[in-house]
Amino acid sequence: MIHMSLMITDVLIIGAGAVGCAVARELSRYKLKVVVVDKEYDVAAGTSGRNSAVVHAGFNNKPGSLMARLCVEGNAGFETLCKELDVPYKKTGKFVVAFDEEDQKTLQIIYKQGLNNGCKGLRILDGEELKRRLPDVGGISAMESIDTAIFDPFLYTVALAENASCNGVLFRFGEEVKNIEKIEGKERERYSVTTDKRTYKARYVVNCAGVGSVRVAQMLGFNQYKLYPCRGEYLILDKIAEKFLQVPVYPAPKKGIGGLGVHLTPTIHGNIIIGPSAEYIEDGEDYSSTKLIIDKLFDEAKKLLPTLERKHIIGAYSGIRSKQAPPSEGGFHDFLIQEEPECKGFINLIGIESPGMTASMPIARMVCNIIGHSIDLNPNLSFNPIRKGILKFSDQNDEEKDRLIKINPEYGEVVCRCQNVTKAEICQAIENPLGVKSIASIKYRVWATTGRCNGGYCFARIAEILEKDYGINPEDITLRGKGSEYFIGRVK
Ligand SMILES: Cc1cc2nc3c(=O)[nH]c(=O)nc-3n(C[C@H](O)[C@H](O)[C@H](O)COP(=O)(O)OP(=O)(O)OC[C@H]3O[C@@H](n4cnc5c(N)ncnc54)[C@H](O)[C@@H]3O)c2cc1C
Repeated sequence: MIHMSLMITDVLIIGAGAVGCAVARELSRYKLKVVVVDKEYDVAAGTSGRNSAVVHAGFNNKPGSLMARLCVEGNAGFETLCKELDVPYKKTGKFVVAFDEEDQKTLQIIYKQGLNNGCKGLRILDGEELKRRLPDVGGISAMESIDTAIFDPFLYTVALAENASCNGVLFRFGEEVKNIEKIEGKERERYSVTTDKRTYKARYVVNCAGVGSVRVAQMLGFNQYKLYPCRGEYLILDKIAEKFLQVPVYPAPKKGIGGLGVHLTPTIHGNIIIGPSAEYIEDGEDYSSTKLIIDKLFDEAKKLLPTLERKHIIGAYSGIRSKQAPPSEGGFHDFLIQEEPECKGFINLIGIESPGMTASMPIARMVCNIIGHSIDLNPNLSFNPIRKGILKFSDQNDEEKDRLIKINPEYGEVVCRCQNVTKAEICQAIENPLGVKSIASIKYRVWATTGRCNGGYCFARIAEILEKDYGINPEDITLRGKGSEYFIGRVK
């Protein structure tokens, strides 16, 4: 008989996406024992690392909805949060472009909706002004949103988790929640949560499992929820495309489609992404990129930006929307965030689709308030909101580079040539506070392997550092945790 170890905690958070990590960071302000479990190798392995990376202003969401309120609130606090957590953020603004009369009517509707939702900085531009402001972009008029921004969604989630971890939260990766039972009687812990590694007894369970949240809810008998996974594919363009576009450009949204339409978004790292498509699929974790959609995305993007060329494409990825609205209906249902009345202490977060990144911190505050209704939340007096990220060597001036190399000669050794990432940065990524060591974990912390060569040069160097400097057996080096090993043995 196998005995699973037991861990007792006040709060167990299922899912280390942006929402679970924001909840963890928010709860770390209080004297509580908090554990986050995720079945994947690191944070942001689900939708939080697979989206448009836009801090939305909140004009797309239905007035009075949680989506609208939490998005506007999230947008207002995002810049300060990114400063506290040392996360790359840029207030670029955004243009929503009309191509015909119907689109122009839509612009008027979303403009008024935005004002109703409390969005600031919205303006309608005529065709002449659009041409002057964005000469490379097609369209006959546009709505400008000054408060829209771009950010790094990986580093945002990493930073929330690292800050939570430094403030006492425990993170456990590679653990899938398989079963949840209610503990009857007067015990303080009300739930027994079993993963494939151990059992947790927890007073509160927060279900932040994204597209897996319905399955988690079902473990306690909540069968009334349903999600319709809707895949959005993207293309990534090389940095040379940066000169074409410095601001996200979206088409006027069409009624009933599963998303906001194929848009062009500059990333905080200087690439452009094209997408997402919207395709309802069966398997909520099928992150394929398909030829059909790649071709479609490129054609759509050419309408917005006629100067684009296929040679600019360097990669593709996809994310899955956790849609509560069935395909027959399309559009959006509101976020579901609630403590289940018949299961006190069990908090479900279901259907957290876009704008879930933008709204993640207000969502976290909502969860804290729910918990605060049934216990006293005593402040953690040593809570520190500040987190320092890894210094980007390539952003420094020559004098500072010289100084850094004198202190640490590993700054003088470039490992990723496309993105100019040094060995010193790679080592800091390997020594991250969450203790994760996969190649993808290193990649997303310092952006190595993401250039035009797609890691062709630097992957072998990073593997060598893991082996020689950190004593990791090459057969244990993985892309994204167990099952994605790179090496199967030595040839000599
Ligand atoms: C195409 C697309 C574009 C988007 N663009 C934007 C945007 O520009 N701006 C914006 O604000 N929002 C955007 N969003 C929405 C945003 O990405 C999501 O709302 C957000 O990432 C949801 O975060 P989450 O933490 O709830 O889910 P996730 O990030 O998916 O995290 C859930 C986690 O739960 C884990 N998990 C699941 N089941 C289990 C289990 N049984 N046991 C243990 N762990 C489990 C998973 O491994 C995963 O890590 C977009 C979404 C998509 C799909």
